[in-house]
Amino acid sequence: MKLHNKILLGLVLGAGAGIVSKLVFGEAPELLWIVENVATPVGQVFLRMLFMIVVPLIFGSVTLGVASLGDLTRIGRIGGKAMGFFFLTTAFAAAIGLTLVNVIGPGRQLAPEVRTQLLEEYSGEATARVGGGAVFGVETFVNIVPRNPVDSAARGDMLGLIFFSLTFGIALTQLSKERAQPIMAVLEGLVDVVTRIIGYAMKIAPYGVAGLIFGVTVRFGAEVLQSLALYVITVMLGLAIQLFGVTGMIARFFVGIPYGRFFGKCRSLMVTAFSTSSSNASLPENIRTAEEQFAVPREIASFVLPLGATMNMNGTALFEGMTVLFLAQVFGVELSLTSQVIVIVMSVITAVGAAGVPGGSIPLLVLILETVGVPGEGIALILGVDRILDMSRTVPNVMGDQLTALVVARSEGAALRLDD
Ligand code: ASP
Repeated sequence: MKLHNKILLGLVLGAGAGIVSKLVFGEAPELLWIVENVATPVGQVFLRMLFMIVVPLIFGSVTLGVASLGDLTRIGRIGGKAMGFFFLTTAFAAAIGLTLVNVIGPGRQLAPEVRTQLLEEYSGEATARVGGGAVFGVETFVNIVPRNPVDSAARGDMLGLIFFSLTFGIALTQLSKERAQPIMAVLEGLVDVVTRIIGYAMKIAPYGVAGLIFGVTVRFGAEVLQSLALYVITVMLGLAIQLFGVTGMIARFFVGIPYGRFFGKCRSLMVTAFSTSSSNASLPENIRTAEEQFAVPREIASFVLPLGATMNMNGTALFEGMTVLFLAQVFGVELSLTSQVIVIVMSVITAVGAAGVPGGSIPLLVLILETVGVPGEGIALILGVDRILDMSRTVPNVMGDQLTALVVARSEGAALRLDD
Protein backbone atom coordinates (compact mmCIF):
# COMPACT_ATOMS: atom_id res chain seq x y z
CA MET A 1 0.00 0.00 0.00
CA LYS A 2 1.27 3.49 -0.82
CA LEU A 3 2.44 5.60 2.11
CA HIS A 4 -0.15 8.37 1.70
CA ASN A 5 -2.95 5.81 1.75
CA LYS A 6 -1.48 4.27 4.88
CA ILE A 7 -1.39 7.68 6.55
CA LEU A 8 -5.01 8.28 5.60
CA LEU A 9 -5.92 4.85 6.95
CA GLY A 10 -4.10 5.69 10.20
CA LEU A 11 -6.27 8.79 10.53
CA VAL A 12 -9.52 6.96 9.87
CA LEU A 13 -8.70 3.96 12.10
CA GLY A 14 -7.36 6.15 14.93
CA ALA A 15 -10.42 8.41 14.88
CA GLY A 16 -12.83 5.45 14.55
CA ALA A 17 -11.18 3.53 17.40
CA GLY A 18 -11.22 6.66 19.56
CA ILE A 19 -14.89 7.42 18.97
CA VAL A 20 -15.99 3.80 19.52
CA SER A 21 -13.87 3.36 22.68
CA LYS A 22 -15.22 6.59 24.10
CA LEU A 23 -18.79 5.46 23.44
CA VAL A 24 -18.22 1.98 24.90
CA PHE A 25 -15.86 2.72 27.79
CA GLY A 26 -16.65 6.37 28.57
CA GLU A 27 -14.23 7.73 31.14
CA ALA A 28 -12.86 4.29 32.15
CA PRO A 29 -9.37 4.59 33.69
CA GLU A 30 -8.10 1.76 31.45
CA LEU A 31 -8.97 3.79 28.38
CA LEU A 32 -7.18 6.84 29.72
CA TRP A 33 -4.22 4.59 30.52
CA ILE A 34 -4.07 3.48 26.90
CA VAL A 35 -4.22 7.09 25.75
CA GLU A 36 -1.42 8.12 28.11
CA ASN A 37 0.85 5.15 27.68
CA VAL A 38 0.30 3.99 24.12
CA ALA A 39 -1.44 6.46 21.83
CA THR A 40 0.11 9.70 23.07
CA PRO A 41 3.72 8.40 23.18
CA VAL A 42 3.47 7.04 19.62
CA GLY A 43 1.95 10.32 18.44
CA GLN A 44 4.54 12.35 20.32
CA VAL A 45 7.47 10.46 18.80
CA PHE A 46 6.13 11.28 15.34
CA LEU A 47 5.51 14.92 16.25
CA ARG A 48 8.93 15.30 17.85
CA MET A 49 10.66 13.75 14.84
CA LEU A 50 9.06 16.45 12.71
CA PHE A 51 9.86 19.27 15.12
CA MET A 52 13.39 17.91 15.49
CA ILE A 53 14.20 18.66 11.88
CA VAL A 54 12.49 22.02 11.55
CA VAL A 55 15.47 24.14 12.64
CA PRO A 56 18.11 22.51 10.40
CA LEU A 57 15.53 22.34 7.62
CA ILE A 58 14.70 26.04 7.80
CA PHE A 59 18.32 27.08 8.03
CA GLY A 60 19.48 24.72 5.27
CA SER A 61 16.65 25.23 2.87
CA VAL A 62 16.12 28.98 3.20
CA THR A 63 19.84 29.69 2.91
CA LEU A 64 20.27 27.34 -0.02
CA GLY A 65 17.07 28.52 -1.67
CA VAL A 66 18.10 32.16 -1.47
CA ALA A 67 21.68 31.45 -2.53
CA SER A 68 20.52 29.36 -5.50
CA LEU A 69 18.20 32.13 -6.66
CA GLY A 70 21.43 33.90 -7.32
CA ASP A 71 20.79 37.58 -7.51
CA LEU A 72 19.10 40.04 -5.25
CA THR A 73 16.53 41.16 -7.81
CA ARG A 74 15.26 37.61 -8.25
CA ILE A 75 15.17 37.03 -4.48
CA GLY A 76 13.29 40.29 -4.04
CA ARG A 77 10.85 39.50 -6.84
CA ILE A 78 10.02 36.00 -5.59
CA GLY A 79 9.86 37.13 -1.96
CA GLY A 80 7.64 40.05 -2.96
CA LYS A 81 5.27 37.86 -4.96
CA ALA A 82 5.01 35.36 -2.11
CA MET A 83 4.34 38.04 0.50
CA GLY A 84 1.81 39.79 -1.71
CA PHE A 85 -0.03 36.54 -2.24
CA PHE A 86 0.10 35.68 1.49
CA PHE A 87 -1.34 39.06 2.33
CA LEU A 88 -4.16 38.96 -0.21
CA THR A 89 -5.34 35.42 0.57
CA THR A 90 -5.12 35.98 4.32
CA ALA A 91 -7.14 39.20 4.20
CA PHE A 92 -9.69 37.53 1.96
CA ALA A 93 -9.96 34.59 4.37
CA ALA A 94 -10.57 36.92 7.33
CA ALA A 95 -13.26 38.72 5.30
CA ILE A 96 -14.98 35.40 4.51
CA GLY A 97 -14.98 34.64 8.23
CA LEU A 98 -16.54 37.95 9.23
CA THR A 99 -19.19 37.73 6.55
CA LEU A 100 -20.27 34.26 7.65
CA VAL A 101 -20.55 35.22 11.32
CA ASN A 102 -22.48 38.35 10.43
CA VAL A 103 -24.94 36.31 8.37
CA ILE A 104 -25.29 33.22 10.60
CA GLY A 105 -24.91 34.99 13.94
CA PRO A 106 -23.85 32.03 16.13
CA GLY A 107 -23.11 34.31 19.09
CA ARG A 108 -26.68 35.61 19.21
CA GLN A 109 -27.96 32.08 19.79
CA LEU A 110 -25.78 31.18 22.79
CA ALA A 111 -27.79 30.80 26.00
CA PRO A 112 -26.52 33.08 28.83
CA GLU A 113 -26.28 30.14 31.27
CA VAL A 114 -24.03 28.23 28.85
CA ARG A 115 -21.89 31.34 28.59
CA THR A 116 -21.51 31.61 32.38
CA GLN A 117 -20.78 27.91 32.72
CA LEU A 118 -18.10 27.88 30.00
CA LEU A 119 -16.49 31.03 31.37
CA GLU A 120 -16.20 29.45 34.81
CA GLU A 121 -14.98 26.13 33.55
CA TYR A 122 -12.25 27.39 31.24
CA SER A 123 -11.08 30.65 32.78
CA GLY A 124 -8.10 28.94 34.49
CA GLU A 125 -7.01 27.37 31.24
CA ALA A 126 -7.46 30.70 29.46
CA THR A 127 -5.02 32.41 31.84
CA ALA A 128 -2.54 29.57 31.45
CA ARG A 129 -2.70 29.52 27.65
CA VAL A 130 -2.59 33.24 27.11
CA GLY A 131 0.27 33.82 29.55
CA GLY A 132 1.39 37.43 29.83
CA GLY A 133 -0.51 38.26 26.65
CA ALA A 134 1.01 39.63 23.51
CA VAL A 135 1.94 43.18 22.75
CA PHE A 136 2.02 44.71 19.36
CA GLY A 137 4.07 47.70 18.36
CA VAL A 138 7.34 48.81 16.84
CA GLU A 139 9.18 46.13 18.84
CA THR A 140 7.21 43.45 17.01
CA PHE A 141 9.15 44.40 13.87
CA VAL A 142 12.43 45.05 15.64
CA ASN A 143 12.20 41.60 17.21
CA ILE A 144 12.22 39.95 13.79
CA VAL A 145 15.95 40.67 13.79
CA PRO A 146 17.37 38.18 16.26
CA ARG A 147 20.08 39.05 18.74
CA ASN A 148 21.24 35.49 18.61
CA PRO A 149 20.04 33.06 15.93
CA VAL A 150 20.77 30.03 18.09
CA ASP A 151 18.60 31.45 20.84
CA SER A 152 15.80 32.18 18.33
CA ALA A 153 15.98 28.62 17.06
CA ALA A 154 15.92 27.24 20.61
CA ARG A 155 12.89 29.32 21.54
CA GLY A 156 11.03 28.35 18.39
CA ASP A 157 11.14 31.93 17.09
CA MET A 158 11.05 30.89 13.45
CA LEU A 159 10.82 34.42 12.08
CA GLY A 160 14.15 35.24 13.72
CA LEU A 161 15.72 32.10 12.31
CA ILE A 162 14.34 32.85 8.85
CA PHE A 163 15.70 36.39 8.99
CA PHE A 164 19.14 35.07 9.86
CA SER A 165 18.98 32.42 7.12
CA LEU A 166 17.84 34.96 4.53
CA THR A 167 20.68 37.29 5.41
CA PHE A 168 23.15 34.40 5.34
CA GLY A 169 21.89 33.29 1.92
CA ILE A 170 21.99 36.80 0.47
CA ALA A 171 25.55 37.30 1.72
CA LEU A 172 26.50 33.96 0.21
CA THR A 173 25.39 35.11 -3.24
CA GLN A 174 27.87 37.95 -3.02
CA LEU A 175 30.94 35.80 -2.44
CA SER A 176 33.02 34.68 -5.38
CA LYS A 177 32.09 31.27 -6.89
CA GLU A 178 35.15 29.50 -5.45
CA ARG A 179 34.53 30.86 -1.99
CA ALA A 180 30.79 30.13 -1.95
CA GLN A 181 31.07 26.66 -3.46
CA PRO A 182 32.22 24.70 -0.35
CA ILE A 183 29.49 26.23 1.80
CA MET A 184 26.87 25.52 -0.86
CA ALA A 185 28.05 21.90 -0.99
CA VAL A 186 27.73 21.58 2.78
CA LEU A 187 24.25 23.13 2.71
CA GLU A 188 23.15 20.80 -0.09
CA GLY A 189 24.43 17.87 1.96
CA LEU A 190 22.59 19.16 5.02
CA VAL A 191 19.31 19.47 3.12
CA ASP A 192 19.75 15.97 1.64
CA VAL A 193 20.34 14.49 5.08
CA VAL A 194 17.34 16.30 6.53
CA THR A 195 15.23 15.06 3.61
CA ARG A 196 16.24 11.51 4.50
CA ILE A 197 15.16 12.05 8.10
CA ILE A 198 11.81 13.42 6.90
CA GLY A 199 11.46 10.10 5.08
CA TYR A 200 11.97 8.23 8.38
CA ALA A 201 9.45 10.43 10.14
CA MET A 202 6.89 9.85 7.42
CA LYS A 203 7.40 6.09 7.67
CA ILE A 204 6.05 6.18 11.19
CA ALA A 205 3.41 8.78 10.25
CA PRO A 206 0.53 6.25 9.89
CA TYR A 207 1.03 5.12 13.51
CA GLY A 208 1.79 8.61 14.81
CA VAL A 209 -1.29 10.06 13.15
CA ALA A 210 -3.45 7.24 14.51
CA GLY A 211 -2.05 7.80 18.03
CA LEU A 212 -2.59 11.56 17.95
CA ILE A 213 -6.14 11.39 16.64
CA PHE A 214 -7.07 8.55 19.02
CA GLY A 215 -5.96 10.70 21.97
CA VAL A 216 -7.94 13.69 20.71
CA THR A 217 -11.17 11.79 20.11
CA VAL A 218 -11.07 9.98 23.46
CA ARG A 219 -10.35 13.14 25.43
CA PHE A 220 -12.81 15.30 23.60
CA GLY A 221 -15.85 16.40 25.55
CA ALA A 222 -18.92 16.11 23.35
CA GLU A 223 -20.93 18.36 25.70
CA VAL A 224 -18.85 21.46 24.93
CA LEU A 225 -19.18 20.69 21.25
CA GLN A 226 -22.94 20.56 21.60
CA SER A 227 -23.30 23.87 23.38
CA LEU A 228 -21.06 25.59 20.83
CA ALA A 229 -22.37 23.61 17.86
CA LEU A 230 -23.45 26.57 15.74
CA TYR A 231 -20.14 28.38 16.26
CA VAL A 232 -18.13 25.26 15.40
CA ILE A 233 -20.24 24.58 12.30
CA THR A 234 -19.84 28.20 11.14
CA VAL A 235 -16.05 28.06 11.57
CA MET A 236 -15.84 24.70 9.79
CA LEU A 237 -17.97 26.04 6.97
CA GLY A 238 -15.64 29.03 6.60
CA LEU A 239 -12.55 26.81 6.61
CA ALA A 240 -14.14 24.52 4.02
CA ILE A 241 -14.94 27.50 1.77
CA GLN A 242 -11.37 28.74 2.13
CA LEU A 243 -9.84 25.33 1.42
CA PHE A 244 -12.11 23.79 -1.19
CA GLY A 245 -13.42 27.03 -2.67
CA VAL A 246 -10.69 29.66 -2.68
CA THR A 247 -7.51 27.53 -2.49
CA GLY A 248 -8.75 24.75 -4.80
CA MET A 249 -10.09 27.21 -7.36
CA ILE A 250 -6.91 29.29 -7.46
CA ALA A 251 -4.95 26.06 -8.00
CA ARG A 252 -7.36 25.13 -10.78
CA PHE A 253 -7.58 28.43 -12.61
CA PHE A 254 -4.26 30.13 -11.91
CA VAL A 255 -1.94 27.15 -11.82
CA GLY A 256 -3.92 24.74 -13.99
CA ILE A 257 -4.00 21.77 -11.62
CA PRO A 258 -7.23 19.76 -11.94
CA TYR A 259 -9.22 20.16 -8.74
CA GLY A 260 -9.22 16.52 -7.60
CA ARG A 261 -5.57 16.05 -8.44
CA PHE A 262 -4.50 19.03 -6.36
CA PHE A 263 -6.13 17.65 -3.22
CA GLY A 264 -5.20 14.06 -4.12
CA LYS A 265 -1.52 14.87 -4.34
CA CYS A 266 -1.70 16.78 -1.06
CA ARG A 267 -3.49 14.12 0.98
CA SER A 268 -0.62 13.14 3.26
CA LEU A 269 0.20 16.83 3.68
CA MET A 270 -3.38 17.56 4.75
CA VAL A 271 -3.48 14.61 7.14
CA THR A 272 -0.14 15.67 8.63
CA ALA A 273 -1.40 19.22 9.15
CA PHE A 274 -4.69 18.01 10.64
CA SER A 275 -3.18 15.53 13.06
CA THR A 276 -0.19 17.61 14.20
CA SER A 277 -2.11 20.89 14.32
CA SER A 278 1.10 22.64 13.43
CA SER A 279 2.34 24.46 10.33
CA ASN A 280 5.93 24.05 11.53
CA ALA A 281 5.60 20.30 11.99
CA SER A 282 4.03 20.09 8.53
CA LEU A 283 6.82 22.08 6.87
CA PRO A 284 9.00 19.06 6.03
CA GLU A 285 6.09 17.30 4.31
CA ASN A 286 5.07 20.56 2.65
CA ILE A 287 8.47 20.96 1.00
CA ARG A 288 8.49 17.30 0.01
CA THR A 289 5.03 17.55 -1.56
CA ALA A 290 5.97 20.66 -3.56
CA GLU A 291 9.15 19.08 -4.93
CA GLU A 292 8.07 15.50 -5.42
CA GLN A 293 4.42 15.85 -6.38
CA PHE A 294 4.44 19.08 -8.34
CA ALA A 295 8.11 19.44 -9.34
CA VAL A 296 8.31 22.95 -7.84
CA PRO A 297 11.98 23.98 -8.27
CA ARG A 298 13.88 23.42 -5.07
CA GLU A 299 15.05 27.01 -4.70
CA ILE A 300 11.46 28.27 -4.84
CA ALA A 301 9.95 25.61 -2.55
CA SER A 302 12.69 25.97 0.02
CA PHE A 303 12.42 29.74 0.08
CA VAL A 304 8.65 30.23 -0.10
CA LEU A 305 7.43 27.37 2.13
CA PRO A 306 9.38 28.15 5.32
CA LEU A 307 8.22 31.76 4.99
CA GLY A 308 4.67 30.52 4.49
CA ALA A 309 4.77 28.19 7.50
CA THR A 310 5.55 31.17 9.70
CA MET A 311 3.77 34.04 8.00
CA ASN A 312 0.90 32.71 5.94
CA MET A 313 -2.06 31.42 7.90
CA ASN A 314 -5.31 31.72 5.98
CA GLY A 315 -7.25 29.38 8.25
CA THR A 316 -6.00 31.14 11.37
CA ALA A 317 -6.98 34.60 10.10
CA LEU A 318 -10.43 33.30 9.19
CA PHE A 319 -10.82 31.67 12.60
CA GLU A 320 -9.63 34.79 14.42
CA GLY A 321 -12.00 37.08 12.57
CA MET A 322 -14.89 34.74 13.20
CA THR A 323 -14.11 34.24 16.85
CA VAL A 324 -13.78 37.94 17.61
CA LEU A 325 -17.14 38.65 16.03
CA PHE A 326 -18.72 35.60 17.66
CA LEU A 327 -17.56 36.71 21.11
CA ALA A 328 -18.70 40.26 20.38
CA GLN A 329 -22.16 38.85 19.64
CA VAL A 330 -22.09 36.75 22.82
CA PHE A 331 -21.18 39.73 24.97
CA GLY A 332 -23.56 42.04 23.14
CA VAL A 333 -20.80 44.34 21.87
CA GLU A 334 -21.83 46.01 18.60
CA LEU A 335 -18.92 46.11 16.18
CA SER A 336 -19.23 48.93 13.66
CA LEU A 337 -18.03 48.51 10.10
CA THR A 338 -14.81 50.33 10.99
CA SER A 339 -14.22 47.99 13.93
CA GLN A 340 -14.79 45.04 11.63
CA VAL A 341 -12.21 46.37 9.20
CA ILE A 342 -9.83 46.73 12.15
CA VAL A 343 -10.57 43.09 13.01
CA ILE A 344 -9.63 42.04 9.47
CA VAL A 345 -6.39 44.04 9.54
CA MET A 346 -5.48 42.73 13.00
CA SER A 347 -6.35 39.17 11.98
CA VAL A 348 -3.92 39.42 9.08
CA ILE A 349 -1.16 40.89 11.24
CA THR A 350 -1.61 38.40 14.08
CA ALA A 351 -1.84 35.47 11.65
CA VAL A 352 1.62 36.53 10.46
CA GLY A 353 2.82 36.80 14.05
CA ALA A 354 1.29 33.55 15.33
CA ALA A 355 3.70 30.68 15.80
CA GLY A 356 3.00 27.63 13.65
CA VAL A 357 2.46 25.41 16.65
CA PRO A 358 -0.72 24.00 18.20
CA GLY A 359 -2.76 26.85 19.62
CA GLY A 360 -0.18 29.41 18.43
CA SER A 361 -2.81 32.02 17.64
CA ILE A 362 -4.66 31.98 20.97
CA PRO A 363 -2.55 34.59 22.82
CA LEU A 364 -2.77 36.92 19.83
CA LEU A 365 -6.50 36.50 19.58
CA VAL A 366 -6.82 38.17 22.98
CA LEU A 367 -4.95 41.13 21.57
CA ILE A 368 -7.57 41.64 18.84
CA LEU A 369 -10.43 41.17 21.30
CA GLU A 370 -9.11 43.86 23.59
CA THR A 371 -8.37 46.24 20.72
CA VAL A 372 -12.01 46.28 19.65
CA GLY A 373 -13.41 46.27 23.17
CA VAL A 374 -14.55 42.67 23.61
CA PRO A 375 -13.58 41.15 27.01
CA GLY A 376 -10.35 39.15 26.53
CA GLU A 377 -11.38 36.53 29.05
CA GLY A 378 -14.14 35.59 26.59
CA ILE A 379 -11.51 33.38 25.01
CA ALA A 380 -12.41 30.87 27.75
CA LEU A 381 -15.68 30.26 25.94
CA ILE A 382 -14.09 28.62 22.95
CA LEU A 383 -11.13 26.80 24.52
CA GLY A 384 -13.11 23.59 24.96
CA VAL A 385 -13.46 23.23 21.21
CA ASP A 386 -10.19 24.84 20.20
CA ARG A 387 -8.29 21.62 19.61
CA ILE A 388 -10.59 20.45 16.87
CA LEU A 389 -10.72 23.93 15.32
CA ASP A 390 -6.94 24.20 15.56
CA MET A 391 -6.48 20.93 13.68
CA SER A 392 -8.95 22.06 11.06
CA ARG A 393 -7.55 25.58 10.54
CA THR A 394 -4.02 24.25 10.19
CA VAL A 395 -5.07 22.43 6.98
CA PRO A 396 -5.96 25.61 5.01
CA ASN A 397 -2.91 27.29 6.60
CA VAL A 398 -0.58 24.70 5.17
CA MET A 399 -2.41 24.32 1.86
CA GLY A 400 -2.23 28.08 1.39
CA ASP A 401 1.58 27.80 1.61
CA GLN A 402 1.64 25.00 -0.93
CA LEU A 403 -0.57 27.05 -3.23
CA THR A 404 1.71 30.08 -2.91
CA ALA A 405 4.74 27.98 -3.88
CA LEU A 406 2.83 26.73 -6.93
CA VAL A 407 1.60 30.17 -7.96
CA VAL A 408 5.06 31.71 -7.56
CA ALA A 409 6.73 28.81 -9.43
CA ARG A 410 4.21 29.12 -12.25
CA SER A 411 4.69 32.86 -12.53
CA GLU A 412 8.44 32.28 -12.74
CA GLY A 413 7.87 30.02 -15.73
CA ALA A 414 8.76 26.73 -13.97
CA ALA A 415 7.63 23.51 -15.67
CA LEU A 416 5.36 22.06 -12.99
CA ARG A 417 4.16 18.44 -12.97
CA LEU A 418 0.40 18.76 -13.17
CA ASP A 419 -0.45 15.17 -14.09
CA ASP A 420 -0.20 12.04 -11.89
N1 ASP B 1 -1.95 25.67 14.74
C1 ASP B 1 -1.88 26.72 13.77
C2 ASP B 1 -0.74 26.43 12.80
O1 ASP B 1 0.28 25.90 13.19
C3 ASP B 1 -1.68 28.06 14.38
C4 ASP B 1 -2.94 28.50 15.11
O2 ASP B 1 -3.88 28.97 14.45
O3 ASP B 1 -3.01 28.38 16.32
O4 ASP B 1 -0.84 26.73 11.64
